[in-house]
Amino acid sequence: MIEATRIRKAFGANTVLDGIDLEVGTGEVKAVIGPSGSGKSTLLRCLNLLEAPDAGTIRIEDAQVTAPRISQKEAHALRSRTAMVFQGYNLFRNRTALQNVMDPMVIGRKVPADEARARAQELLARVGISESTQAQYPVTLSGGQQQRVSIARALAVRPHAILLDEPTSALDPELVSEVLAVIRDLASERITLVIVTHEMAFAADVADRVVFIDGGRIVEQGPAREVIEHPQHERTKRFLREEL
Ligand code: ATP
Ligand code: MG
Repeated sequence: MIEATRIRKAFGANTVLDGIDLEVGTGEVKAVIGPSGSGKSTLLRCLNLLEAPDAGTIRIEDAQVTAPRISQKEAHALRSRTAMVFQGYNLFRNRTALQNVMDPMVIGRKVPADEARARAQELLARVGISESTQAQYPVTLSGGQQQRVSIARALAVRPHAILLDEPTSALDPELVSEVLAVIRDLASERITLVIVTHEMAFAADVADRVVFIDGGRIVEQGPAREVIEHPQHERTKRFLREEL
């Protein structure tokens, strides 16, 4: 369970998050949608403390922080409960696909190498990366393969939730569906997901609930299909007209 309360974040005079309340239940898939610059990435980064919120409380399972006073220890505890997948550039280029998935276990969690390798192989198979591909370096992989390895890497540390920031938006159109299929699988296994996406049809189909953000505020939220197919607010309607 993720519970973020009254999250505020400004960059100088630019208030980017203006009191966001977000609740994501265990096993829930939450899609965050909204126009460019509305604060979606900043919100995701605040949940992971990649960005320090100015105010607000974040609780993920048994870890809790209240900004602005967050100790290193609290920050570490909160961070270790999520894993993040970005648009691209998630992988270390001097490590093979397999090593990229093993490293967070071996280095971050002190899992013995044999055990980490076995689990990495299993996770990579699960996202459709064959044994021979596992030995390849990221530059030799397609964008879709790289994103699937990134998702396996995120799963490696058994996070409570995975935060995905437009995981398909840097991909060539023909590679989008293979990554969405993997995310769909995670969703069906009831892994808690928060996904920022411009793929409205996918959000309507896979997410349980959708949050529409504009100007750093939640304008509308509700069951995914309801929000996307029957938005209530004028602002949401306009956004969806432009997006679809
Ligand atoms: P997009 O759909 O284009 O990815 P977004 O909703 O993810 O947009 P954010 O990246 O969260 O938007 O940015 C929201 C606002 O915060 C923008 O005005 C952006 O310029 C500003 N911003 C984000 N990060 C920083 C930063 N590190 N320093 C200064 N301003 C920032
Ligand atoms: Mg963004």
